[in-house]
Amino acid sequence: MRPAVLFPLFADTTALDGIGPKLARLIERVAGLRVIDLIWCMPQGLIDRRFRPAIADAPDGQLCTLDVTIDAHVPPQNPKRPYRVRASDDTGTVYLIFFNAHNDWIERALPIGARRLISGDVRHYGGEIQITHPDRMLAPENAGELDIIEPIYPLTAGLTQRVMAKTMRAALARLPVLPEWQDAAWLSRNDWPDFVAALQIMHQPQTLAELGADTPARLRLVFDELLASQLALALVRQRARRQAGRTLNGDGSRRKKLIAALPFKLTSAQTRSIDEIEQDMIRDQRMLRLLQGDVGSGKTLVALMAMAQAVEAGAQAALMAPTEILARQHLQTLEPLCEAAGMSVRILTGRDKGRARDKLLEDVADGSVDILIGTHTLIVEDVIFKSLGLVVIDEQHRFGVHQRLTLSAKGVGVHMLVMTATPIPRSLSLAYYGDLDNSRLDEKPPGRQRIDTRTVPLSRLHEVSDGIGRAIAHGQRVYWVCPLVEESELIDAAAAEERYATLSGQYGKDRVGLVHGRMKPSQKDAVMTAFQIGEIQILVATTVIEVGVNVPEATIMVIEHAERFGLAQLHQLRGRVGRGSGQSTCLLLYQEPLGETARARLTTLRESDDGFRIAEEDLRLRGAGELLGTRQSGFPDLKFADLARHGDLLSAARDDARLILERDPELAGERGSALRHLLYLFERDEAIKNLRAG
Ligand code: ADP
Ligand code: MG
Repeated sequence: MRPAVLFPLFADTTALDGIGPKLARLIERVAGLRVIDLIWCMPQGLIDRRFRPAIADAPDGQLCTLDVTIDAHVPPQNPKRPYRVRASDDTGTVYLIFFNAHNDWIERALPIGARRLISGDVRHYGGEIQITHPDRMLAPENAGELDIIEPIYPLTAGLTQRVMAKTMRAALARLPVLPEWQDAAWLSRNDWPDFVAALQIMHQPQTLAELGADTPARLRLVFDELLASQLALALVRQRARRQAGRTLNGDGSRRKKLIAALPFKLTSAQTRSIDEIEQDMIRDQRMLRLLQGDVGSGKTLVALMAMAQAVEAGAQAALMAPTEILARQHLQTLEPLCEAAGMSVRILTGRDKGRARDKLLEDVADGSVDILIGTHTLIVEDVIFKSLGLVVIDEQHRFGVHQRLTLSAKGVGVHMLVMTATPIPRSLSLAYYGDLDNSRLDEKPPGRQRIDTRTVPLSRLHEVSDGIGRAIAHGQRVYWVCPLVEESELIDAAAAEERYATLSGQYGKDRVGLVHGRMKPSQKDAVMTAFQIGEIQILVATTVIEVGVNVPEATIMVIEHAERFGLAQLHQLRGRVGRGSGQSTCLLLYQEPLGETARARLTTLRESDDGFRIAEEDLRLRGAGELLGTRQSGFPDLKFADLARHGDLLSAARDDARLILERDPELAGERGSALRHLLYLFERDEAIKNLRAG
């Protein structure tokens, strides 16, 4: 249950004085429905009315407060013209301009002969100094109002800064006294304010510097946010640890045969990862491990060794791939090796129907299948394992957490290995997965040739397509990736179709194929297969080819409008070539002129082929939210923290969370109870369900 002191913050904004349903709808647009949403809505700038020049010194385009005497009113001759009021000081004259205003209102606010403080944006027009619709027009006795620096909040049509400021004051007034959840020594060492004071400071900035990313008040909130998320992740993990895992301690016999059957030696990164996984599976806790490694770093083999260990221990293993074509590819790779090691491997796809499917399911249920490969088809209900011990998931962020859990629920104490070819910077993986166990394949198998990466302006497109012509005449195979126009498959597909038309016009329809996201999976598979077996030589595609398809004979990757792609994505795409022994080339076609960030991206790519380095660089260039596409992928948004910037605080929060649960695993003590408030405030309360006495 949410602590009662927090109720006022989670009430709708209509609970605030002066907020009716109409205003609440406007506020919902900029902040949200609830009081807490308003409180999280930070000022984006500030208005400082303390600049009080003489009229003659008032600069064009600047917010000024002028101390003037009202001289004359000039009502408009025609209603389309503005109402003008002339005012002056010792140094000059200023005109106050009003469009569509009521004359009597202006006359009352600005009586002739009266002194007024006028605050607003000054404009110089011709020889005239003007303020159009001043923000403030005050009698001298109210001058005090102008000394307050006003925060600027995001607005929407119908919502003014004034109303927003007033609403915000009402919201802040609802902040209750809260117990301190941060460690006292840590807090005083950093010299941070308490939570409520920090929010008040953030909402009442006195200087622009106070709006910065590294003020004590903001850092306090950054740490609160990071601590809430680390604690939530640690709680989930603590619970996972309490679930017994199945000890899968094999005798090494099948693994020995596998190694003997390999035409190459394992890299040391592979050996290290295999060991890490082996140790996890021997323990009586469930494994949840992420295996990260660039395309081509040899993840499949690591997975196979883990699966062999499971089989040695009398269990079955499942390997889930995001697409059918990838599942088949895994089968092709694994079949001969499994045969050598005396393991049976089978595939279950959406195409399997009727008797064949029934028979396969029987074999899975009676344990005669050791390893089952498939897509999300593996999670359907009637797939029943005799003794599932290990689940391996390839290319993880195509699957949701739910699908992962469903699959692991098909056995008892099932270990899980999640493989991803998109290396995640340490800080991101920490922020979003917490202390998840991690194995990194940061070394490529020997003998790989570097992909020759070049940047070419689009104005030289014709040279590129001529070059492609020569390449296919020599039997090479080419990927041609079309621009990401918008977040719209329809438009992307149109661009790809156009390119397909040009290229097939040039080289013949029988040599060029097209795949995009709007095609049926079976159509897509057919084209991919044609490319794989060399029936066609040029494959025009949208980014659907991004995920792990292996065509070793493909040696050229052309990416059109490379400046529109993210760094990690470009790296992924490039990884589709350079998989065989031939020298490969990647041509990044870009539209001139290149922006600074786009240039930095393309340069990084030209200089590096290390996915881990590229991921760090991507984080630096783009920021975390964009990097993972946090919104789509269901990662929580961070309100205060910037992972590229606050990496130190993230590690500190991780350590703190770990220590907290070591001392007080149920959050039952005094600090524990304060921390529950923190989890509710940042809406990580799902995690609280992981406590025994929630
Ligand atoms: P990933 O899934 O990480 O992209 P794969 O597992 O598909 O990479 O491996 C890519 C290619 O490298 C495969 O053809 C595989 O047989 C080969 N390979 C894997 N490990 C090694 C190694 N240690 N030495 C040489 N080649 C290897
Ligand atoms: Mg792979």
